[in-house]
Amino acid sequence: MMKRSVPDLLAVLICALLVVGGVITAPASQAATAIDARYAELGGAGGRLGGATGAEFCGLRGGGCQRNFERGVIIWSSATGAQPSFGAILSSWRGNDAENGRFGYPTGPEVCGITGGGCYQNFQGGAIIWSERTGAHISTGAIRVAWARTGFEAGRLGYPTTDEVCGLRGGGCYQNYQGGSIVWAPSTGAWLSVGAIRTRWASTGFENGALGYPITDERCTGSTCDQRYQRGVIAWTAAGGTVLGRDIDVAASSVVVVNKRRPLNPARYIPGPLVGVEGPLLRSDAAQQFSRLLADARAGGIAMVPISGYRSYDTQASLYASYVNRYGQATADLISARPGYSEHQTGLAVDIGISDGTCSLQECFAGTPAGAWAAGNAWRYGFVIRYPQGQTPVTGYAYEPWHLRYVGATIASEMRVHGVPTLEHYMNLPAAPSY
Ligand SMILES: [Zn+2]
Repeated sequence: MMKRSVPDLLAVLICALLVVGGVITAPASQAATAIDARYAELGGAGGRLGGATGAEFCGLRGGGCQRNFERGVIIWSSATGAQPSFGAILSSWRGNDAENGRFGYPTGPEVCGITGGGCYQNFQGGAIIWSERTGAHISTGAIRVAWARTGFEAGRLGYPTTDEVCGLRGGGCYQNYQGGSIVWAPSTGAWLSVGAIRTRWASTGFENGALGYPITDERCTGSTCDQRYQRGVIAWTAAGGTVLGRDIDVAASSVVVVNKRRPLNPARYIPGPLVGVEGPLLRSDAAQQFSRLLADARAGGIAMVPISGYRSYDTQASLYASYVNRYGQATADLISARPGYSEHQTGLAVDIGISDGTCSLQECFAGTPAGAWAAGNAWRYGFVIRYPQGQTPVTGYAYEPWHLRYVGATIASEMRVHGVPTLEHYMNLPAAPSY
C-alpha cells in the first residue's frame, strides 16, 4: 500500500527542479496532473471515489489543491503529493479543520487490513485510525507516542475509542482506548492508565484526587505491579489486589501515615472540625464512627471509654517532656511521640480504656473484654490497632492494644481481610523504627 507511484515521483522531481531553479509558480497544473493520475490509479469513475463533482480548486493552505468526488476527495500539496481520503477518516479529518488544523495534509493513502480489520491514514500532524467497532479517532502528539510504545492497535490498549479530551486540571488531556486510557499533562507527560490500578485511581477522583496525575506507566515484576503518581503510588498484587500509598495529605484524607519518619506537615497542623466524644476530641468523620463503635461495644456489655483523642503540638510537647523526665529519652521514644510526630495530632487516633481503669494504657488491656472486643470489631467502624504486637521495628512503638487509628472502612477492612499488620505495610512505606 505504501509504494510510490510513478506520477508521484514525477511530481517530486518537478517540484525539486522548481526549487533548484528558484522559481515559484502556481501549482495548479502540477496539482491537476498529480490528482488526475491518482484518480486513474484508483479506478477513475468506476473506482471507490466515483465520479468527480467539480474541477480541481487550489489556494488551500500552503498552496494546496483539492478535487471532490462522489465518495471522497483527492487532496494535493507540494510536500505531500496527491492523496485520497474517504469515509469516516475523511469526516474526522474535516472535523479537525482539515488541512488548516493540527493534522495538516494527508501524507499517504488510507492503509487497511491492520490488526482487528481496521484502517489508518497518516497526516502531517498525526494519524486517524478507524475500526468498525470503534469508529474513526485521531492520534497525535505525546499521547500518540505513548500509544506507539504499547504497539498501537495491536498492543494492550487496542483502538482509540475517543478523540483526545482536553481541559483537565492543569491543562491535561486524556484519550480512551479499548483497553484503558492515556493521560497527559504538560508537567507530567503521557502515561498509560489501565486495569485494576486505573480503577483504584478512579476511586480517588483521577487527576483531581489526592494522587494527581500519573508520572510513570504501570511497572510490573512477576505478579506485582505499581504505578506512581504526583503524590503517591498504587500497587497491585494478584493475591491482594490494589493498595494505595499516599504522601502526607492530612487535610484531604483519612489515610495519612504519621510516624517517626513522617512528621505532621506543617508541624503545628490542626485538623478540620473537631468533635468531642465524651470529652476527647476527634476529627468529625472519625468522631462519628467512634461514637458508633462505643455505642455498639456498650450494647454488647463492654464498659469501654475514650481516654485521649486529639492532642495539639503543645500538649504533645509537654506530654513527651514528662515521659523523658520520668523514664529517660529511649523509653519515652518507645511509648510516646515527639511533638509534631504524634498520630493524636491528626485527630484520627483515640486511646480507649475501661471505665474502672483496669490495665489503662498497659499491654494487659489486650486481655480485657474491651481490648478483645476492639481487636475483633474496630475494623468494622474504620479503625485499626495502629501499633500491633511484634511490629515495633516497623512502627517504632511498643504494642499499644488501646490505641485505635481511624483509616476509613475500606482500608480497615482490606487490612483485616489480607492480614496487613501496619499502615506502613499497607502503604508500601519504609519502616520507621526511629527518628
Ligand atoms: Zn495513643
